[in-house]
Formats: sequence, C-alpha cells, structure tokens
Amino acid sequence: VNFGSHTNAVVGLAVEVVNALTPGESGGRPYPAPTAAELPGHLARLLPEEGPLTAADTAGLVEIAGSLRAVFELVDVGDVDDAAVLVNTLVHHWQARPALSRHDGEPWHLHFHGPEASPAEGTGAGCATALAFVLGSEYADRVGVCSADGCDRVYVDTSRNGTKRYCSTACQNRVKAAAFRARRAAAPTR
Ligand SMILES: [Zn+2]
Repeated sequence: VNFGSHTNAVVGLAVEVVNALTPGESGGRPYPAPTAAELPGHLARLLPEEGPLTAADTAGLVEIAGSLRAVFELVDVGDVDDAAVLVNTLVHHWQARPALSRHDGEPWHLHFHGPEASPAEGTGAGCATALAFVLGSEYADRVGVCSADGCDRVYVDTSRNGTKRYCSTACQNRVKAAAFRARRAAAPTR
C-alpha cells in the first residue's frame, strides 16, 4: 500500500513519534515517558534535520505524540468516526496547509505545512494530514495498536494483504512462542 512516498514517510514518522514519546508498554515491558534528559536524544533521532529544539517545540512534540496516539487507539477499536473528528481538529490546530517544496536535491513534493512552520507545527501538521489521507482512503484500518500482551506501541500496515497485528517482528515472535508453549503445556504427556 502506497499513499505516496512522502505521505508514507510522514505516517511512518507519526508512528515513530507516538512510540518514542508516549508512555505505556513496549515489547512486554513498561515504557515510561521519556525524561527531560532523554527527550533531546529521541527528538534528534525523530527529526534529524532539525537542530536542537526549543522548550516550546519539545513540549509541542510531546503533546502531538499524545494526540496522535489517541487517533491510533480509536481506529484500533473500530471508532473511525471519532478518529476522523480528532484528525480534523489536529489538522486545524497545527495549521496544516499544502505547499509544494523542493529541497536537498529532491523533486517537488507536497509538504503539509508552510515554510515558516516551527518543528512542532510542521510535525503536527504533517502527521495529522498524513493520517487524514489514511483515514480518508480505503485503507483506514491500516493503522493500529500492537495486539501482543504487554505492548501498546502503534503501527501502520503498508503490506499488500494488510494482516499486520503487531508493532514489530519481536512482538509477533513473542506471541508465537507463547502460543507454542501453551500448546505444549496442554498436550497430553506420554
Ligand atoms: Zn508490540
């Protein structure tokens, strides 16, 4: 599934922002919210082309992560209606607007924010609009929350058949191994 290479990339960024910045569980372990000391490292990895971020941008990105997580969770439980309303709110709040851009040797491509947007505004506008494309397509159910026990990281499924249920192969393998152990434990001993 391809929503356009730039849209695909920005939906992928939304997944990474949620998974890095929102607390919960990851791969069977608690995932605490990043501390103030940890945030700059996460943000440098998520937005490598930005320099060190201001406190306002850092706070904005944590806020964005929380609201994007709500979109994934609503879709995951089948509530696309409320997810769509929330995405519209985010598109408006982060002042998304289309603007063709050409930089760093790339061909013209559509950005979802104006050139003067701050890193938080640009990320909020971009991620909200990319999710709007997904929810407005026949692939609205391709975003979700990991089904493994002890994990609530989010994912986007761009595979052809759309059967992804886990955030990672690590979670998929953990679930398979647990099912194997359960079958073996239930099997009669000879
Ligand atoms: Zn997982």
